[in-house]
Amino acid sequence: MANRPSSTSFDHDSSDLFGVEDAGSDRISVLLPLPLSGAYDYLASENLAVKPGDFVVAPLGRRLVVGVIWGEGDPGGVAEEKLKPIEAVLDAPPLPKANRDFVDWLSAYYLAPPGAVLKMAMSVQAALEPPAPKTGYAAVEPDILLQREAEGVRMTAARQKLLAAAADRVAEPAADLAKAAGVSVAVVKAAADAGLLRRVSLVEQYPFSTPDPSLPGPELNDEQEQAAGILREMVRSGSFDVALLDGVTGSGKTEVYFEAIAATLEEGRQALVLLPEIALSAQWLRRFEERFGVIPAEWHSDLTAAQRRRTWRGVAEGKVRCLVGARSALHLPFPDLGLVVVDEEHESAFKQEDGVHYHARDMAVVRGRIADCPVILASATPSLESLANVEAGRYRRLVLPERHGVAEPPTIQIVDIRKDKPGRQEWLSPTLRQALESTLAEGEQSLLFLNRRGYAPLTLCRTCGFRLACPNCSSWLVEHRFARRLECHHCGYTTGQMQTCPSCGDTDSFAACGPGVERLAEEVAAFLPGAAIEIVTSDTLHSPFQAAAFVDRMTAKEIDIVIGTQIVAKGYHFPMLTLVGVVDADLGLNGGDLRASERTYQLMQQVAGRAGRAGRPGRVLLQTANPDAPVMQALASGDRDAFLEQESAMRRDFGFPPFGRLAALIVSGPDERAVEAVSRDLARQAPRPAGVQVLGPAPAALALLRGRHRRRLLVKAEKGVSMQKVLADWVASFRPPGQTRIAVDIDPYSFL
Ligand SMILES: [Zn+2]
Ligand SMILES: [Zn+2]
Ligand SMILES: [Zn+2]
Repeated sequence: MANRPSSTSFDHDSSDLFGVEDAGSDRISVLLPLPLSGAYDYLASENLAVKPGDFVVAPLGRRLVVGVIWGEGDPGGVAEEKLKPIEAVLDAPPLPKANRDFVDWLSAYYLAPPGAVLKMAMSVQAALEPPAPKTGYAAVEPDILLQREAEGVRMTAARQKLLAAAADRVAEPAADLAKAAGVSVAVVKAAADAGLLRRVSLVEQYPFSTPDPSLPGPELNDEQEQAAGILREMVRSGSFDVALLDGVTGSGKTEVYFEAIAATLEEGRQALVLLPEIALSAQWLRRFEERFGVIPAEWHSDLTAAQRRRTWRGVAEGKVRCLVGARSALHLPFPDLGLVVVDEEHESAFKQEDGVHYHARDMAVVRGRIADCPVILASATPSLESLANVEAGRYRRLVLPERHGVAEPPTIQIVDIRKDKPGRQEWLSPTLRQALESTLAEGEQSLLFLNRRGYAPLTLCRTCGFRLACPNCSSWLVEHRFARRLECHHCGYTTGQMQTCPSCGDTDSFAACGPGVERLAEEVAAFLPGAAIEIVTSDTLHSPFQAAAFVDRMTAKEIDIVIGTQIVAKGYHFPMLTLVGVVDADLGLNGGDLRASERTYQLMQQVAGRAGRAGRPGRVLLQTANPDAPVMQALASGDRDAFLEQESAMRRDFGFPPFGRLAALIVSGPDERAVEAVSRDLARQAPRPAGVQVLGPAPAALALLRGRHRRRLLVKAEKGVSMQKVLADWVASFRPPGQTRIAVDIDPYSFL
């Protein structure tokens, strides 16, 4: 992990040494990307000039760790003679002040160790080293060639081919030259050894082409033009401001915020766009390219190590002008951030649930405030959190109405499956079946939406009732019939299919319970044998290439019926897709999550938005056993605002977010008794200041997860209370024994 710097790291100008007047102390504080309680003090040796933000190599125990200079040291801290000197300064652009402030802010808000937050900002250690020069091969002067021949160097046919090619080309890596000449790399290298080619050092080029804001964008209608004008103005004013861009699917939000990006590029500043599930944004990238002539830099988990290194460095050096990425892009070291856009701001995918728990949409706003630049939150179904901020006057709201002729809203019909019953061991109502049949007959496409991967969510023994459960979690094993295995969707545990019941020993007694997408595909194939069916889940579609190939198959009409999970609900537009069937609209409503209705509404609305395009009205059928639930009524009537009003009122009454504050404490560990004892102690010592309520402990919904037992406490506070202070005083003083841990989740979204 420790990087030994090259000698070039040492020749910094010593005049930028800070703290010189500080009584001659060379004490500096260095934050290391480790979950420690804070920054450590080191000595800046005299021949090593440093400034805040510099990446430095510092000793920690017996190893060397790369960290960041955070500021001056604490003269009242560890005695100076005990401090260790830092070893070296890396030759990388310093971490900008805005990033350092962001680390401190996020750490304080989410009660996470600052080093753990810093780790997200320096996730690409290799980028801190200057790129290694590559060797290039180039032609030599003709008289040198003659001289070599005179010396007796052999001129084979391959060498002649090679030299002819090299004569017309600039210096390039051996592999490229070999390919151009139609010879092997060995021939290129041997020719250079024989003095027939020159070796030169190539400086690595950054393959980032600059987006061109001056290209003509698409024609905007009056409403779009008006919103774009406001956003451009926000960008030009160059200060912090938040706009909620609220427009139904097909209202042209993307084109509108593209104009804000154009203004940012014109100002010569950098723009950042956050999208959920970036892997699926092939269509988004294409639109960006249409507007700006090039594809923007990308940041997501599918990048190779080399791409990550180049991109991180390109951002830090200001060469990347616009970057689109998943939530972790928020931590990249933009030196001149001029705009942050969060598209699909309502998405729960922006909440990070492992490592440091944070919400990227909320932190994007903080990032904008620290960088003093505008932030745009875009959504067709804005979150109650953002709407409450609009109401409180903190955000402005720009509403885009739907564009006529581009997309007509689909008709949404509720199917009451208590009356319109599917057959035994079947999941599609007669109404939905009929709709699928007629859509197929019309030569149009359908989407069946079921948010359940695999074949069946539960497998039980018909003889004794035994259910196949995960050994590490309190959850059932999901059968994946195509892959011939059982899988836990919480911890990833897998096992082969079983013939014999481990409880009663009966053979072939297992039965699948409930539907997954695979089982649904079986049902559809049985009654529409001629249809081309494709299953689309995160199991089948996990790279941008696969996503693009799927889009191509849909567009080419090689697929009649898509059966998919929420992965298909995101942003695809298929002109021939006219029917959407939601197999179980109630699925998200179970589980007692405070956002269950809101989330169901957003998801259903998003899925519904897939149906119908210009000239082809779409139709959506929602199968539900709760046709009278407010969320179903709101979906059927299309009255979004009434639904949000009602949801808001309910949350306000209960003092839930965004009208009150919430934090979760999860106590977990391998020893159930210890976990139980710690959670009871925590509850007993809970502070009870006015306006704060501590609920629990109660077993978490997943009382066992990855082999750890879990208890949950919920802290509910009034809006004005500093939750962090209450929690810090209480939890920080708590030292759970052994492997028991207390995790704090501020503003929790998952209630598992
Ligand atoms: Zn699975
Ligand atoms: Zn059994
Ligand atoms: Zn599990």
